[in-house]
Amino acid sequence: MKDYSKIKEVICNADAIIIGAGAGLSTSAGINYGTADFAKNFPELVQKYQMTDMYTSSFYEFKTEEERWSYWAKHINYLYNIPATNVYKNLYELVKNKEYFIITTNVDGQFLKAGFAKEKVFEVQGSLSKMQCSVGCHQKLYDVLPLVQEMLHNEKDCKISSDLVPYCPRCGEKMEINLRKDAFFVEDAHWHKLHDEYERFIQENKNKKLVLLELGVGFNTPSIIRFPFESITSKYEHVTLIRVNDKYLEIAFEIQNKSILVKEDCGEFIKQSLSFV
Ligand SMILES: [Zn+2]
Repeated sequence: MKDYSKIKEVICNADAIIIGAGAGLSTSAGINYGTADFAKNFPELVQKYQMTDMYTSSFYEFKTEEERWSYWAKHINYLYNIPATNVYKNLYELVKNKEYFIITTNVDGQFLKAGFAKEKVFEVQGSLSKMQCSVGCHQKLYDVLPLVQEMLHNEKDCKISSDLVPYCPRCGEKMEINLRKDAFFVEDAHWHKLHDEYERFIQENKNKKLVLLELGVGFNTPSIIRFPFESITSKYEHVTLIRVNDKYLEIAFEIQNKSILVKEDCGEFIKQSLSFV
């Protein structure tokens, strides 16, 4: 049992909270990119392509668009359609009455499903619910979820029906899921609006009692949340960093006294913290 008294004091007295969420938060919520259930959920993908998990399978080089979209329809249907999990719902309860803002590298849409306001959730790396032109010829995103359902209903032997394969309405190129993986990642008007909101939120609160609550952020893309959070903590006197991570707790010496390091599963941390707000 950890001592949560300091955490309680910091969270209860905060003027504003920025939540920075990484893969560890969704893992804690049971959204599993790993191998555990893959063979059970997708036996046909294991048999046909020898795939082993949600993450590495997303880099598979398919021979046809019909096969590629059959795969993505299953991938999206499985991950994106998981309803709001208790971990995210508890997190919402924890901050809903505070001034908050979210920045996340997760693409599973859990924040929005759990009730967080759309204009306060910056999904930096994209979303499984959107698609874009594969060569980024124009900065617009398209909903993919209705198409996914149609694909699943018109799918056989790991191929969707050819007439459902989407192509870019402007240049005719292939379409891609809106996930940052190359230089063609599309940042649409909504992305830019949230980016600006995030910057504005920091500027507005940097000299107040601002808490940076970092949940499950490792070293996959540390330049998006982890390093900027450390930098803000070091620059502004009243900022406190709470770093929750069951593996990567390292912190720079000069901000040690402004940081609370919690070696804990994110879901457990949120549950404990919820008991005192
Ligand atoms: Zn295009």
